[in-house]
Amino acid sequence: MNGRAGPTRHIFITGGVVSSLGKGIATASIGRILVNMGFAVRIQKLDPYLNVDPGTMNPFQHGEVFVTDDGAETDLDLGHYERFLGVPCSRLSTITSGQIYQAVINNERAGRYNGGTVQVIPHVTDEIKRRIRALAGPDVDVVISEIGGTVGDIEGLPFLEAVRQLRHELGSEHCCCIHLAYIPFIRAAGEIKTKPAQHSVQKLREIGIIPDFLLCRAEKPLNRAVKDKLALFCNVDLDKVIDLPDVPNSIYEVPQLLVRQAMPEQLARRLRLPERPCDMRDWDLMVQHIKKPKDTVRIALVGKYIDHQDAYKSVTEAIDHAAYAHLLKAEVVRIESESLESEGWEARLEGVDGILVPGGFGRRGFEGKLRAIRYARERGVPYLGLCLGMQAAIVEFARHVLGLAAANSLEMDEKTPDPVIVPMAAQREIIAAGQLGGTMRLGSYPCTIVKRSSRTARLYGGAEVVHERHRHRYEFNNAYRARCEQAGLLFTGLYIPDPARPEQSLVEIIELKDHPFFIATQAHPEFKSTPVKPHPLFRGFLGAAYKRKRGERPGSTTEYGLQPVAESEGRVAAR
Ligand code: GLN
Repeated sequence: MNGRAGPTRHIFITGGVVSSLGKGIATASIGRILVNMGFAVRIQKLDPYLNVDPGTMNPFQHGEVFVTDDGAETDLDLGHYERFLGVPCSRLSTITSGQIYQAVINNERAGRYNGGTVQVIPHVTDEIKRRIRALAGPDVDVVISEIGGTVGDIEGLPFLEAVRQLRHELGSEHCCCIHLAYIPFIRAAGEIKTKPAQHSVQKLREIGIIPDFLLCRAEKPLNRAVKDKLALFCNVDLDKVIDLPDVPNSIYEVPQLLVRQAMPEQLARRLRLPERPCDMRDWDLMVQHIKKPKDTVRIALVGKYIDHQDAYKSVTEAIDHAAYAHLLKAEVVRIESESLESEGWEARLEGVDGILVPGGFGRRGFEGKLRAIRYARERGVPYLGLCLGMQAAIVEFARHVLGLAAANSLEMDEKTPDPVIVPMAAQREIIAAGQLGGTMRLGSYPCTIVKRSSRTARLYGGAEVVHERHRHRYEFNNAYRARCEQAGLLFTGLYIPDPARPEQSLVEIIELKDHPFFIATQAHPEFKSTPVKPHPLFRGFLGAAYKRKRGERPGSTTEYGLQPVAESEGRVAAR
């Protein structure tokens, strides 16, 4: 492939005026165009909040917790990065003030500052710079660092100061700052206003950061006069004032917007990188599929955090990716599981082509999930269960097929006579001690596909071992395995830590015999789905749901649906 392009370049991305502008998507899109130019890219998010990681944050507040292969619980922007770039992130891609302060205070307690006064500058900023530089290296062309929050936030200041220092140390020809600002349209006045953006750039300049690019988030593209004004007052070249209007169909159109405005060439020139063509063929084809679906399919997402748009971000993304591969548009019907616990619940599920129960914690709404699963099992509606969605499927099976009426997970009922789901041995003490942060079974583990003739095996393309990511404390109780198997539940995937002791294996994937599609997994396959490479379990699920919609009988010939668009070859280093 292409040779090295000299020292690692750094791109810093800040946001101004308001949050929720889609800075993560803009950052990921910049990553994608660099990947499509053949550069090795690494990407990270710097979050100014004091939580050590978002693992203990309520999804109502902060959206989904994304999990990396190496088991970091992270901000959901890392999900965007992986989906856009097609490469796994690691622990190094997630930095919070909590981690920074924890490290600095631990150093201080260990006497590593030789009795010096420990201060935000230089100790905190040095720690931030160290973690940004940790992503650079001889095999990396560009490191992209997104600073969370909005310019002007008190808690973000040390991060911006670290960026200023790094730019000074690394040389401004190898660093570039991109500022994303909101440009509001005031309807009553019929005018677009640039003042808030001017002010946020002024704030940045006060700190000593001069943006090279201004990404303008607005409803519509800006006219020349507005851009001239922004260029003049924000001190940015006119051709580096880039429009980022709302996209009509999909967030995956954003890289195309950047390409149309010559951002690849501009970035290469600004960072003194070789000007390579940006090959968007695969990406463009994927977006074409999104724009012209041949039909729709309705999927019920039965969970607890239905009101927060981002609480199941990777799940809804994975559903969409699988739909694209079948040239379909997925209509996701979000159903609050608690609402299925009252009269008339069945009506809420009528007309859906597939049912999905995602991961979750705690007993609220659990009985509603069981109802949805029973509905899917008894009526032959395709079902996909993820993590808690697998545990719930087992509880439902134990209650209504094995006849163990009070079977439950010990997470939901500590006194159940039939605990079919129990804490993992390693988790019992942790649960008792209430040590919550970063203590679950986290990250990637191998799963052996043990039933070679199952649908699970076919969907995974005959692979003997697959790797998926995890985030859980409870597992299937193997004491019930034989009984379940006799009654028609297939245990198709197992984590086998010690082949000499198969009884210690952990159930990873289950499947129902004699059902059009009923698969559930202890893992979170949604974290590994990308728009150009949808996850096989989701692809199979969407295919089965569409078959149900058309009233077709399930069969294996078109089970995988249409071939997805091939992942484009980007030279990307993953660490
Ligand atoms: N609450 C369950 C457990 O801890 C499931 C977790 C999840 O769905 N992520 O095992």
